[in-house]
Amino acid sequence: MSVTSPSYEARSKKLRDVDPEVFSLIQRETERQEYGLEMIPSENFVSEAVLEAMGSVLTNKYAEGQPGKRYYGGCHVVDEVENLASARCCELFGSEFANMQPHSGVQANQAVFEAFLKPGDTFMGLRLDQGGHLSHGSPVNFSGMHYKVVGYGVRESDCTIDPDEVLTLARQHKPKMIIAGASAYSRKFDWKVFREAADEVGAILLADIAHYAGLVAGGAYPSPVPYADIVTTTTHKTLRGPRSGMVMGRAAHQKKINKAIFPGLQGGPHMHTIAAKAVMFKEALAPDFKRYSAQVVDNARALANALMKGGLKIVSGGTDSHLMLVDLRPIGVTGKAGEETLDKVGITANKNSIPFDPQPFTICSGVRLGTPALTTRGMGTKEMEQIASFIIEALQNVENEARLRAVSEGVQELSKKFPLYRHRLIS
Ligand SMILES: *Cc1c(COP(=O)(O)O)cnc(C)c1O
Repeated sequence: MSVTSPSYEARSKKLRDVDPEVFSLIQRETERQEYGLEMIPSENFVSEAVLEAMGSVLTNKYAEGQPGKRYYGGCHVVDEVENLASARCCELFGSEFANMQPHSGVQANQAVFEAFLKPGDTFMGLRLDQGGHLSHGSPVNFSGMHYKVVGYGVRESDCTIDPDEVLTLARQHKPKMIIAGASAYSRKFDWKVFREAADEVGAILLADIAHYAGLVAGGAYPSPVPYADIVTTTTHKTLRGPRSGMVMGRAAHQKKINKAIFPGLQGGPHMHTIAAKAVMFKEALAPDFKRYSAQVVDNARALANALMKGGLKIVSGGTDSHLMLVDLRPIGVTGKAGEETLDKVGITANKNSIPFDPQPFTICSGVRLGTPALTTRGMGTKEMEQIASFIIEALQNVENEARLRAVSEGVQELSKKFPLYRHRLIS
C-alpha cells in the first residue's frame, strides 16, 4: 500500500520545524512590534484569545450563505459562531442587524454601494486629501471609477467639517448616498447634520466608522447608529479585533446588504475570522473596554498638547479621538522625512497630507499619529509626554545620527517596560 499524503505526525509538526524560514520572519516581526512604538492610528494589538480563534480549524470550513441557509453541509457549528458574533455586535452597538461576512473595510463599503447605487450614480464623501478614505471616491478605487463623487471638505480657518457646505452640496447635487466618516479626521462627526442633509435629498446615509468603532463601542466617541441607515467598519483598528470588516444597520436594509455581500461580492465567509470577531465583541462588552477607549482619547489629547508645547502644529488645534495630524512645517521637515526619521528611532507612523497641503501626496507636510496600540500596551499620559519629547528630539535632529541613536535607546527602554507578546519571543 502506498501512502501519498503526509503522515499524521508530519501534519502535526509545529511551524518552527516545518518552515523555519517563515517561522523566523514571524519572530522578527514580533520583535519589531515588541521593541518599537506603534503609532499608526489604524493599528492595534490583538489579544492572545483573538489570535487563537484566528488560528483555529474554523479556517477549513466553507459556509457560503447565511446561518441556517447555507450552500454546504456541516455548518451547524459555524452557524452558532456567526449568530453569536452578530448578536454580540448588535448588543454592543445597539444596531438592528449586523453582517459579519465582509473580508475587510473596503469590501464592507463596496457592498453598500452595490446594495443602493448603480454605476454612474452620484454620492458624497469627505475629500481624500482632507481626511477621507480611498473607498470614499478616490479615482483609482472602484468608488471613484464606477460612481460620480462629490467631495466635501474642511474649512480653511479651523480645519473642521463645515455643516453648511455639506447641506449646500447635497441640495446642489442630489446624491443617492452620503458617506460620513474618515481616516484622518481627529474631531467629532456631527452625525445629525449628515442625517438632515440625507433626509433633505432622500439619500442613504452611510457612516463609515472604521477608525472610531472602538471608541464608539466604549462610549468615548458619538455613535452614528441612531442616525445612519448603514454603518460600516473595520474590526482591526480601535475595535482591536482580527483584520476584517462588517456592516450594521436598520432592519429594513438587511436583505439588500446580505445579498450584496453574498453572492454579490464574496464567496465563502472566513469563519475563523468571524469567530475572532465574536471574541473581540466579548472583550469590547467588558467594563475594561470603556476604560481603554477613554484612555485612548486622554492619551491622544496629552500627546497633542505635549507636541504643541514642543513647537509643533496640530491640525485643528487638537483632537477629540485617537488620532491627530501633525503639521511639520514649523520645524521645516516634510512628512516623508518625518516618517523616515521616526522609523529610524523605532517609532512607526505614516506621512499624511494635511488639509490644503502645498506638497504632493508622495511627500506631504504632515504625519498622522495615534494612540490605540500604545494604550493597549498599558501606556498612559505620562508616557505620552515622554514619547512627545522623543518625537520632537528626533525631528529636530534628522541628520544627527548620534542623537537619533540616543532617542532610539530611549524608545527601546520604554517599550521594554510595557511587555506585549513577550511570551511569544524565543530569545
Ligand atoms: C481603514 C479604512 C477602511 C478600509 O479598511 P480595509 O480593511 O483596509 O479595507 C475603510 N474606511 C475607512 C474610513 C478606513 O479608515
